[in-house]
Amino acid sequence: MLEKLKDQQLLKTQAYINGEWVSADSGKTFSVTNPANGAAIADVADLGAEETRAAIAAADAAMVEWKAMTAKQRAVVLKKWFDLMVEAQEDLALLMTTEQGKPVKEAMGEVMYGASFIEWFAEEGRRAYGDVIPTHANDKRILTVKQPIGVVAAITPWNFPIAMITRKAAPALAAGCTIVIKPSEETPFCALAMAELADRAGIPAGVLNVVTGVNAAAIGGELTSSPIVRKLSFTGSTPVGKLLMEQCAQTVKKTSMELGGNAPFIVFDDADIDAAVEGAIASKYRNAGQTCVCANRILVQAGVHDKFAEKLAARVQEMQVGDGTTPGVEIGPLINKAAIDKVESLVQQSVEQGAQIVTGGERNAHGDLFYTPTILSNVTQDMPVFTQEIFGPVAPLVRFETEEEAIKIANNTPFGLAAYFYSETMSRIWRVSEGLEYGMVAINDGILSTEIAPFGGVKESGTGREGSKYGLDEYLEIKYMLMGGI
Ligand code: ADP
Repeated sequence: MLEKLKDQQLLKTQAYINGEWVSADSGKTFSVTNPANGAAIADVADLGAEETRAAIAAADAAMVEWKAMTAKQRAVVLKKWFDLMVEAQEDLALLMTTEQGKPVKEAMGEVMYGASFIEWFAEEGRRAYGDVIPTHANDKRILTVKQPIGVVAAITPWNFPIAMITRKAAPALAAGCTIVIKPSEETPFCALAMAELADRAGIPAGVLNVVTGVNAAAIGGELTSSPIVRKLSFTGSTPVGKLLMEQCAQTVKKTSMELGGNAPFIVFDDADIDAAVEGAIASKYRNAGQTCVCANRILVQAGVHDKFAEKLAARVQEMQVGDGTTPGVEIGPLINKAAIDKVESLVQQSVEQGAQIVTGGERNAHGDLFYTPTILSNVTQDMPVFTQEIFGPVAPLVRFETEEEAIKIANNTPFGLAAYFYSETMSRIWRVSEGLEYGMVAINDGILSTEIAPFGGVKESGTGREGSKYGLDEYLEIKYMLMGGI
């Protein structure tokens, strides 16, 4: 498959530290496979704690010059990185589909979405303004400046192998920080291709480092215990996020945590049903349901429940399952065996507890990791498809009667990342938006991610915001300066 890469130099198998491509000290490698067919793609350097320490040291050394550059000088380099990404869009998308499985069209979308963070923060870095605060005493003056927080560690997941990196690296670098990135062991090739493009763009040695390896605990242990690392930005599961927060407590690091979700998608009686169906398709089945903002529970008001279920089922049954490189495919494979086993077991347990299969409900003949897009009805709040993040192409439908009940059901979870609802009534739109305990609410839309808006969750979905003007603050410290004797 990868012989189709126009630029073969984008396929890297070594880690990137201090501007050099490096193997593991031990010489060890790990194999990465294509989830669509199980074929081995290539072996990648399997680094551990020692090499991570070297990467942190390189980032520390590089920060002296990087932070001394003006924001505009950094922006010039970052914009070059952005341009190179846009030029390499097709190759990056092919790498992504090959290691991650999502349909090429979605991969192309992610490359541009990922690139958008670089462009945005290259510009936003120039607006890291401080304040001059009206004084409390005539012989004193008070002002604040914003300074880069220090060396940043980023630990990223496989579901958005490029965007979850740029969403952290771009603001970090724009702010004047340097970064050590540990990508998911499932998707190292996108991360390494991004490092290659960063190198070509002229990002100086040590400013951006990528440490690949299967021993996430060893690499993570080094990143979280190092006193040099001042900030950890993590996107991944809630249990790992909690562990990393605990580890970071020892050196009192600032953390941004983008963790699991359990998004409600509410369809009220007054909704535009066709729009709600399209929104549900986009929100639920994108990336085969493997995003933290995927609709996880579809709550439908009794008056429109059956009509909505019927229309959604008709649309879901049309979805083409297959290898993401095949034109027209909308549902690719899940990432690995553990993922499909989990989806299968959540569905089975829920069916045993009384859920009904409207469509799907089984593995798909395309291969070991494919699951047929599924809709379950009669789902109740005690079922595992309601309480757990499914991370697969399964839409559980929950029937409700009143607006109050819908809000209560939606908030009945320790998570609070994204929520969606469809209604045509202005007063309801305000009431429900304010009542939902979520960091992000999409009204009459199924997609909400953009580089210009703050992405992030409340409750056990995490802390901090990525993207937007707030995303830069995560990598800056405010210094207050008092000047006396005036
Ligand atoms: P997912 O379910 O999306 O794979 P994980 O939280 O397991 O979520 O993985 C997200 C990222 O966290 C990956 O890069 C993974 O390697 C990393 N990771 C997993 N366990 C640890 C750990 N103990 N310490 C540091 N990083 C970890």
